[in-house]
Amino acid sequence: MNVGDLRTMYVAELQELRSVEDQLVAALPKMAQLVEHPQLRQALKRHLAETESQRNRLDELLKRHNATPTAHEDSSMRAIIREADRWAGMVSDADCRDAGIIASAQRVEHYEIAVYGTLATWAQQLGLAEDHGVLRTILAEEKRTDAALTRLAEGGVNREAAEDAAPEGEGYMARSREVLGEAGSYVRSSARPVTHTIEDFPVAAVVLAGAAGYLMAYLAHAGGTDRSRQRAPEYAWDTGYSGRPRAF
Ligand code: FE
Ligand code: FE
Repeated sequence: MNVGDLRTMYVAELQELRSVEDQLVAALPKMAQLVEHPQLRQALKRHLAETESQRNRLDELLKRHNATPTAHEDSSMRAIIREADRWAGMVSDADCRDAGIIASAQRVEHYEIAVYGTLATWAQQLGLAEDHGVLRTILAEEKRTDAALTRLAEGGVNREAAEDAAPEGEGYMARSREVLGEAGSYVRSSARPVTHTIEDFPVAAVVLAGAAGYLMAYLAHAGGTDRSRQRAPEYAWDTGYSGRPRAF
């Protein structure tokens, strides 16, 4: 296909995007079936319904451009889903598999966010206000799904997988995090009085710092560089008119 203008490219990408949604409609039920975590399964099922609606909305847009919905297959999405399948088949631990399925689902969402973002911008540049509105709405839905998956991962799914993977190691890690946390709080609490004193008496702090610097310089150089206290070697004496030797 030879693409010579932005509008043709936009429609071709819209067809690719429709293929993305279509592939996801087929993949999400399988992913949801493999999941153990009830909230994660619920989130995937909810997104399946949303994805079907997104595919329908893209069909509507393509109809307006007189373009066939199934003209292109998105091979990047095909590869992402193939990898997700392969991983899910390799992981035997249920919590670990849930964490892996979240990772795969977020790969999909990030890919969709990238494509919807680009196409929304192109639609705006082409003056296609209606397309722009639809694409922006779907973009927001994809972002919401991604955020929901992040919350599920951070809210326990990944932690449960990590606990299953290394119970003893996790104990040590938890203890070291505790110790490091305590050490951090000691450093912070000892630094606080100094900071407060400086904030309360800024002029006194500057004067004290200057005095301390002067004292250190005096101690470092006293007796070491004061020429009047040094005895000059004999060859350096200048007898002058008085005939008395004096040191430079
Ligand atoms: Fe989608
Ligand atoms: Fe999505």
